Amino acid sequence: MEKDLGPHGPTREDFRRAESAYLRARNAEARCLIGPQSECSVQLVEAHSIQKAKLILIADKRRKLQILSIDVIKDFSMASAMENERDKIFRQYRSISNPIITGKWACKRHDDSTFSQIEKGNLDAANEEHCLLLAYRTVLFDYFKKCVILRFYKELGREFQTTVFSSRISISAERKALAERFKIQVENALIHVRNGRNSGMEHRIIVIKSVPKIAANVVTYREGRNMGTPREERKIAERGIIRSPSEILMFVTVYPEPDRNVAILSFPKGWDSLVHVYIPAFWEEDTNLASALLSKTILDETEGIMISPAAWRSFGEKKQRRIIDQFVVTTQPDPMVVRTRSGESIPEEVLSNLLYRRDPDFVDNSDPEEFNLFSD
Ligand SMILES: [Zn+2]
Repeated sequence: MEKDLGPHGPTREDFRRAESAYLRARNAEARCLIGPQSECSVQLVEAHSIQKAKLILIADKRRKLQILSIDVIKDFSMASAMENERDKIFRQYRSISNPIITGKWACKRHDDSTFSQIEKGNLDAANEEHCLLLAYRTVLFDYFKKCVILRFYKELGREFQTTVFSSRISISAERKALAERFKIQVENALIHVRNGRNSGMEHRIIVIKSVPKIAANVVTYREGRNMGTPREERKIAERGIIRSPSEILMFVTVYPEPDRNVAILSFPKGWDSLVHVYIPAFWEEDTNLASALLSKTILDETEGIMISPAAWRSFGEKKQRRIIDQFVVTTQPDPMVVRTRSGESIPEEVLSNLLYRRDPDFVDNSDPEEFNLFSD
């Protein structure tokens, strides 16, 4: 029997059920995604998408951060939330160990052996293996999250009408399979580099001199079937760029250093012209415009941004609102109720339509400073 959530949306009891379903899903999916399993240690670590040592650079004295992230339970409640409710969700500093930015996706042994070389002060953006290790953390976290969310929807059961408004959350088995494929691609690139071969990936770097402010991970892709936004399509046509027959996978990691913020883009070798259209910041020579474009990419494409509370306060009320709006509008297209039966996926076409229904103003037809995360 399907339960009608009615015009007033889910009840308190529904949220409690959603929360316990989410926790069950998170526990059920906890495992080492690095492997091989035969060599795993028993203990799983609560791993961050960006190393804790970097997050500490932007946290305040109480180890808190301004986090803009998809939070399944809160998103669920946001289905019926008014704008001021939504604001409350984002207007609170949260712990550096908050579960929305961590996951149990690695055993202690594999976490140590895989990432020790980019721990502490050793991370070097000019080292290709380091770039790939950052991308690897991003795909592991992304894949883990998709496994959890898919299981969460199964756990919720068929009597729920699922309100789908967060198109970047994977809800389909197809999205989970895609995330796994991306993980394998990065693993293969890492193996190639370690054996002194060509990784098949290209990396570009932006360095923004300032106090440490931002950490974020982006994993995104475009392909023929999954058309870009109208703006992207126009540029591709104007420039006569050849499309890729397979999906173009792109990673961006932004991490703080004591005197700068660094952003690294990794993508398949040879597709510069296309990636230039999708993530233009990395080809922009004007540093201010590059940081504005980078902010736009992060706000539009990522599921999680961590901002230093000091930087967040310095933005002021109006800019904070603009940043939240940009994050939310591209995360959540107009709320739309989609009926799901237990475990059934929502068709990819529906998700794609949701994803690209909006094409918010690009930086070149608005003030680039209005949501620049890196400016003072
Ligand atoms: Zn392991």
